[in-house]
Order: sequence, then structure tokens, then C-alpha cells
Amino acid sequence: MLRKMETSTNNDGLLLPVTEEFYSVQGEGHNAGSAAYFVRLAGCDVRCPFCDSKATWNMKNSTLTDIADIAARAAATPSRTVVITGGEPLMHNLAPLCEELHKQGVKIWLETSGSHKTTGSFDWICVSPKTSRPPLDDVMSIANELKVVITDTESFHFAEKCAMKVAKGCIHTLQAEWDSRETVYPLIFHYVLEHPEWNISIQTHKILNIR
Ligand code: SF4
Repeated sequence: MLRKMETSTNNDGLLLPVTEEFYSVQGEGHNAGSAAYFVRLAGCDVRCPFCDSKATWNMKNSTLTDIADIAARAAATPSRTVVITGGEPLMHNLAPLCEELHKQGVKIWLETSGSHKTTGSFDWICVSPKTSRPPLDDVMSIANELKVVITDTESFHFAEKCAMKVAKGCIHTLQAEWDSRETVYPLIFHYVLEHPEWNISIQTHKILNIR
């Protein structure tokens, strides 16, 4: 069942505001290269200047969608893996969607800035924290991956501050802000040589020109 988004999302999590759903390949981070069904939820109060998903900021660009329908579409894909992204997906109650997806045997990967309380259970949590709205400790403590966007040399200080909040075993990745990549790639390259606990994340979906 699809319903046009009118005002705001509900809190029981049975209907979620979806900006887009599509089957593709994860382009960035530790799981880059793996096929997955993407569910992009609307709403984000972090407002990064470099955001490449600005359409999600306006709830009017979304359709209020029944979670059973989302789960059925994700379960029908060969990968049976879903990426819940946004926007900032943790602005919504994700517990019922996660329950429905897991009931159907679908693996769930979450992409979040970590700026809101966690609801739901996930097989992989990638936190990409932002300075404008720093991540909450409870989200950081359960992150599987810390992915920090680098815009300039100052970003490395923020990355290290965030790294102090994640648990042992959490993967550390650094990703260039796309429009600054020409100047930032060399910075990241040299940083990783000196700090090998960090890995480079490249936005391969932008190179391949896929969603
Ligand atoms: Fe865009 Fe993500 Fe920043 Fe929100 S947190 S403004 S979706 S880059």
C-alpha cells in the first residue's frame, strides 16, 4: 500500500516515508561491491552542506509506505540484503521494519549519522558522523563501521575524536567529500599510510555512474 506523504511521519513505524527504493550495488564503505536493495527514507535535520541526498530533506518528496510492502520487495531480490539509508533513517521508528525484514530472512545494513536514538536491530551499522550534529554515544558503541567524510585536514581531528567512541573491532574508513576529492584523496592516502587502522572508502557508485 502506498500513500502520499502529507505532513509528518507516524511513530508506530508501520508506515515510513520513502524517497526511493531500488536494487543496486553498495558503492562505499566496508560492504562496497555487494548487491543490496536500498530503502532511502525522507527527513534529515543534520543538513550537511555537501549532502548528495538533499531531496530527502523535504518530506513532501516521499511516499508513506507500508513496511510489509518494503520487506516483500527486499525479500524478492537475489541478494536478500537491504540498506536502510536516508536522509537520517533513525529519525523514524525502525523497529517494526527490522522485525518484518528479519522475519523474511533479509539481512539489514544501516547507514546513519548516529545523531538520533537507535530503534530496530541490524546486521551491520555504519555510522557516518557529522560535526553539525555529533553522534550519540549509544549508537557509536554498537557501530560495526565508522565512516568519516573528509573535507579538509581538520576533518582528521574529528575522525579521531569519533574513533575514541566506537568499540574495539569497529572498522574505520575515511571517505573524501566528492566535490573536493581531487585535493582530499592525497590527504587520505598519506593519512592511512601513517594511521593504518583507517581504510580508504571510495564512492564507486559515482565512478560507475549507478545509484
Ligand atoms: Fe545528507 Fe546524510 Fe548529512 Fe543528512 S546526514 S544532510 S542525508 S549527508
